[in-house]
Amino acid sequence: MSEILDAVRAGASGETLADTPMPATTRAVFVLRDEQDMFAGMNSRDKDPRQSLHVDEVALPELAPDEVFLVVMASSINFNTVWTSIFEPLPTFGFLDRLAKESYWGQRHALDYHVVGSDASGVIVRAGSAVRNWKVGDEVTVHCNYVDDQDPSGHDDSMRSDIQRIWGFETNFGGLADIAVVKANQLMPKPTHLTWEESSVNALCNSTAYRMLVSRNGAPVTQGDKVLIWGASGGLGSFAVQHVLNSGGIPIGVVSSANKVDTLHELGCQHVINREEKAYKFWKDEHTQDESEWRRLGKDIRALVGENPEIVFEHPGRSTMGASVFVAKRAGTIVTCAATSGYMIEYDNRHLWMKLKTIKGSHFANYREAWSANQTIIDGKVVPPLSAVFALEQVGEAAYEVHHNRHEGKIAVLCAAERGGLGITNRELREQIGEKRFSIFRRHDKEQ
Ligand code: NAP
Repeated sequence: MSEILDAVRAGASGETLADTPMPATTRAVFVLRDEQDMFAGMNSRDKDPRQSLHVDEVALPELAPDEVFLVVMASSINFNTVWTSIFEPLPTFGFLDRLAKESYWGQRHALDYHVVGSDASGVIVRAGSAVRNWKVGDEVTVHCNYVDDQDPSGHDDSMRSDIQRIWGFETNFGGLADIAVVKANQLMPKPTHLTWEESSVNALCNSTAYRMLVSRNGAPVTQGDKVLIWGASGGLGSFAVQHVLNSGGIPIGVVSSANKVDTLHELGCQHVINREEKAYKFWKDEHTQDESEWRRLGKDIRALVGENPEIVFEHPGRSTMGASVFVAKRAGTIVTCAATSGYMIEYDNRHLWMKLKTIKGSHFANYREAWSANQTIIDGKVVPPLSAVFALEQVGEAAYEVHHNRHEGKIAVLCAAERGGLGITNRELREQIGEKRFSIFRRHDKEQ
């Protein structure tokens, strides 16, 4: 067992942690370079993260001056870990090899294993010599925007940097580990009223939804705006719903089960469409879409809120994009950050130009947006949509759940934390928000 993990678990002071020796290795979740073709020829659904995600000890790298070693108490499953684990759309080793060409410190990333994970909450145990605003012992969460702050292309908006990356997806040493390597400018204060696992599920999806719906870089919601949200009880959608409500907008959530409808009602989303029940068939076959089905969706939306949505929150991609462009209101915006069901998109362009609509691309969040999104969590304005907690050893199962859309909200993974429920230091705020708000997504908990 590692002394540093024990010291963190025992709540040791920063001074004690600084004097506690670091191990040479850490337990971590990784995919292997020599297995990147293991699913060749299979369809996506059959590619099984339980086969490709390994949990074992790996060496800790040398720490760069602007980085910290973080003892990760909890991390979460993001869809990017699913993509990495099924080696789609590309194996992630190419990203690591490119990063290795950029700098001396970048070279550490090109290994034969890729430690994944793009969320984390934990405690800083070592800080590089150039780290100024954080110290050993600080409790933090991590956002995944990995940028070189000496690259001028990112100075206006760090997401515009030509070498912007997602930590733990396009870099090595990610959050699904007992100890992770994190750049100092990815660190944010841990919300004091949350457990480690509740703190670990927010940064990636909340920040992404924030840029899409709150920031001026996305399609900011104003009072009274109707917003159609696909996958509204999923990772992104559950944050999107909360941001729309906080902005005075009216979310129309689309989900695929009666349980999810109940979850959204409890979250405060009054208007919900159960797409399973409605059985929309936007594609007649692989090559042909059915406009009458788009019309049926539009009619269902208008039956709920009286008009078409000003904004459509898009991420399913190929299966829904035609419908999304069609149902958006005249001069409305379709804001998209993904294409889970396929990235070769087809829509009827006449409905876009004749009705002055805009398709807006968005990706994660810049430093300021990630920080502001974290503040919404700290203030209790947005609650973590934590639905289940898995042990690190069960990470393959957890990723399988997300890959097969068997989850709601977010799944956390306990890393150095030995059990759930730990890490709350501000019970008063929690009580003010109301304990019930924290269990909305946990009604069907699959805790392992
Ligand atoms: P998630 O937790 O799996 O939620 C996605 C939801 O989308 C599901 O719950 C499902 O809801 C719905 N959905 C899936 N396939 C669908 C389809 N064919 N038609 C309609 N709805 C469908 O995943 P997530 O974390 O929200 O991520 C969603 C996508 O965004 C992923 O591809 C992910 O990689 C990407 N992403 C991108 C960024 C970025 O910065 N660019 C950030 C986060 C995530 P129902 O079954 O209930 O309808």
